Parts: sequence; structure tokens; C-alpha cells
Amino acid sequence: MSTAPTGAPAVRLHRAAFGYQGRPVLSGVDLTVHPGEVVALLGPNGSGKTTLVKGLLGLSEHLSGEVEVLGTPLARLRDRTRTGYVPQRHTLTGGVGATVTEVVATGLLASRPWWRPARRADREAVHEALEQVGLADRARFDVETLSGGQQRRVLIARALVHAPDVLVMDEPTAGVDHASQHVLAEVLRRLGTSGTTMLVVTHELAALRGVVDRIVEIDTGHLTFDGTPQGYADHLGEHALSAGREAP
Ligand code: ADP
Repeated sequence: MSTAPTGAPAVRLHRAAFGYQGRPVLSGVDLTVHPGEVVALLGPNGSGKTTLVKGLLGLSEHLSGEVEVLGTPLARLRDRTRTGYVPQRHTLTGGVGATVTEVVATGLLASRPWWRPARRADREAVHEALEQVGLADRARFDVETLSGGQQRRVLIARALVHAPDVLVMDEPTAGVDHASQHVLAEVLRRLGTSGTTMLVVTHELAALRGVVDRIVEIDTGHLTFDGTPQGYADHLGEHALSAGREAP
């Protein structure tokens, strides 16, 4: 349920800079994302995409400019449960030793003190999040027995367990096979249709065709394109043409 001031953008950046240890990685970023938009963040490795999305979550340093999330300046945003985050991470293997339900329930720890037992509402929230990613039938499985794509969906469910207004995902389809990419794209499509605002860092735009309604390109710490998928295709075409013209 959204409590953003009426008409407030989901995200608003004005001349924003983010970085680490006081050093900017991105600067001069102007970006307004409206509620319900599904935005893909594209760009070369190391250009600052992760730093930007981490900045919205308070995980990289906000160095200058204005940053508002759900109508509230970042520094005053107290309710972190309204933003969900699926970090760049390939699998949950390597000794996690937990069931699917347990992993998704860790998403509730931000709002539930560790000493309070899970309540019925918590259990329902976990079940609903698993339903959303199509894994309700795997709830009791050990996560390590799941495929890479299914594990990625578990991480999405963990981010969804609070029903966030804004969902930030870093490379959700990377490193999973084509069939799993297709399932993940379907999950994202359903979330998009349900009105969840999404920012998705990706290299695999083709996998998200029809899901994404806006593309933002970042290159060396600056925003270099902001428009529709069709506009982006034209932009790439123009680049290819001008590169061809410059070629000897
Ligand atoms: P992208 O997501 O586009 O691949 P990143 O945002 O991960 O790019 O990285 C942008 C730059 O920030 C890179 O030069 C990277 O080395 C640097 N960087 C990333 N994380 C940190 C960190 N924790 N501390 C310092 N520099 C970092």
C-alpha cells in the first residue's frame, strides 16, 4: 500500500551524485521515475548502475544533489520496507542450509524483532510472496536443491515480502538459463502489471522485452539516454551509423 504524497514520483533525482568514501562514481544525474514504471538501467560494466541503485537504498554514498524516494528526501526516509532490493548475486548455494520459506522470511527481519515469533500475518506474507514468483510449491525445499533461476526467484520473493512500492533489482536474469530467464521475465511482467515500480539493472534487455517501458543508459557515471525501448533502438542505430561514418 502506497503512502507516498499524492502524485509524488517513486524516485526523483536532481543533479544527484553517488559514490564511495567521498569520491563520486556518478554525478549530475537527473531522473524521475513515476509510480508503476518499469525502468531498465543499461550501460557498460563499471559505469555506475549498481552504485546508482544502491544510492537509492542508502547503500552507496549520496554526495550531492537531491534524492527523493516516494516523495521523501533520502536522508529522512525511515521506512526502508517500502523499497525492496534484489542484489546482484548468482545463487544461494554455498552452505546456506535453509528452506525457501526461511530465506524469504529473512526479508521480514527489518520490521520484526528477532525475538518475536513469526505471526500468522508473517507466514501469509511469505506464502503470498512465493505465490507471486510461482514457487509456493517449493516452500519447504532446501534452497540449495533449487535451480539458479529458482533461487533468483526466491531472492525476488524475499524482496517482495513487504509488498514494497519500489523494487530494485540488480541483474535478475544474469547467469540463468533461457527457460529460467523466461520465467523470471514473466514474474517481472506480472509485478509490472500489478503496479509495482521497478528499476532493473540488466545486460539482457531481450529477456525483458515487453516488460520494460523505459530505458535509462548510464555511461562513465553519467546518464546518456532516457526514453522508450523504441527510442533506445533508434539511439543505438544512430550511434552505429555515426560510428560507420567516422570509420575510414
Ligand atoms: P556497474 O554496475 O555499472 O557495473 P558499479 O556501480 O558496480 O558499475 O561500479 C562503478 C564504479 O564504482 C567502478 O569503478 C567500481 O570499481 C566502483 N565501486 C563499486 N563499488 C565500490 C565500493 N564499494 N567502493 C569503492 N568503489 C566501488
